[in-house]
Amino acid sequence: MPQAVTSRSPQSPSDVVGEFPAADASDVRAAVDRAGAARLEWASIGAAGRSAALSAAARALRERSEEATALIVREVGKPLTEARGELARAVAILDYYAQACVAASGELYPPSVGALLYSERRPCGVAGLITPWNFPLAIPLWKAAPALAAGNAVVLKPSPEAAACAELLSSVLGGCLPAGVFSVVQGEAQAGTTLVACADVVSFTGSAAVGAAVTSAAAGRGIPVQCEMGGQNAAIVLPDADAAATAAMIASAAMGYAGQKCTATRRVIVVGGNEGFIDALADAVSALAPAPPEDGGTVLGPVISRAAQQRVSDAVAAGEAAGGRVLAGGGEIDREGWFAPATLLDGLDPGHELAREETFGPLAIVLRAADLEQAMHLSGGVRFGLVTSLHGRDLDALLAGVAMADTGLVKVNAPTTGVDFYAPFGGEKDSSYGLREQGPRALDFYSSTRTVTIAPHGA
Ligand code: NAD
Repeated sequence: MPQAVTSRSPQSPSDVVGEFPAADASDVRAAVDRAGAARLEWASIGAAGRSAALSAAARALRERSEEATALIVREVGKPLTEARGELARAVAILDYYAQACVAASGELYPPSVGALLYSERRPCGVAGLITPWNFPLAIPLWKAAPALAAGNAVVLKPSPEAAACAELLSSVLGGCLPAGVFSVVQGEAQAGTTLVACADVVSFTGSAAVGAAVTSAAAGRGIPVQCEMGGQNAAIVLPDADAAATAAMIASAAMGYAGQKCTATRRVIVVGGNEGFIDALADAVSALAPAPPEDGGTVLGPVISRAAQQRVSDAVAAGEAAGGRVLAGGGEIDREGWFAPATLLDGLDPGHELAREETFGPLAIVLRAADLEQAMHLSGGVRFGLVTSLHGRDLDALLAGVAMADTGLVKVNAPTTGVDFYAPFGGEKDSSYGLREQGPRALDFYSSTRTVTIAPHGA
């Protein structure tokens, strides 16, 4: 097992961003034990105290905005504009759950005996959170903030590629919460499996393969678990969609942050042979040249690692070998860093692996459908079910598409990427397991409900 976790800047791999001791199994268990003890103090400060602590954390993160944004750009290669957006979202999540601490919770029922019958939420205990690298502040916080608001303590196992961002989070929260209520354990798979083996509730975001293992392990222990996993999201373009505007929107949904979002558009399903749109999409994708993420205008920065770069180039080669035609991109990028070109492939069979499985890079596939029914059939014919977007003007057709979509999120004339942080988020099929994240529903996941009956003495 590695002794240390090291993260490197994907745009400049010789730049070591952070190196931290890796937690072994006993370190992870000790962190969970400490969190279990700290939870008692967290409970004793009451809802108003927890609200004040989360508000203070929001302020502290806002004060460190510049530093945190620069770290996101440096550590995971996120383009500056998107990194700023992530930071703003992270602060907003803390503010939102600070208020949720003091919102009404539970319900009052008419008692059949006694004088009072009500339900209340109780925390689960220690929340074990396992997160990916692509939203290194927002994903840990959209799990941790509701877990903390509901009265739990948190142990976070971040992705090694986002280790330094997790340490920054730990320093921000550590300055505002009682000691041990939020802690980070650095490490790889073994730290994650140990956390699943000893936490009281588990929330995971990452790949479908790891998510399936986390689900079985947590379910085997009988603890609540939620997993948010991959997507193979389709954008469906109806014949009356404006070609240029729709192409620009879809190109950025597919290629923004080098396609490294679970909500990225992976398949573009064109209904009724709209060749003008396909040409416009190829032009829009070709215009997205990889560029340094620290530049304000960059849309397409690097991919996260050399392995990811190789995976994208292998996928394009496999697509071409199977008869796919490169409409934009292809080839390799000759510059320092793990950059990959934004590539659009046409002519692949919808059953080909590239059309069915997530590459998690700047690669999208064009598919064609004769009508909306066939488009929806193609869209739903994969094991994932995260997001569908529909583009066009005919409201009847758009509403029919919404009704047929087999995904947890549906967007009309909006990109597959980008979800408001206060609305439920999650998918169907292999994209998600368990209750939705975000918004008020997240508080339900991190609590159990207790029903209390109170009767007068001697009644
Ligand atoms: P990953 O599955 O490789 O890793 C995710 C986390 O799990 C990391 O912290 C990793 O160290 C840990 N891990 C690895 N093996 C483990 C094990 N056996 N037990 C417990 N933990 C283990 O994913 P990644 O490469 O970091 O992220 C990319 C994936 O995340 C993509 O598939 C993407 O679609 C998905 N993702 C989904 C969402 C969503 O909300 N649906 C959001 C972002 C990313």
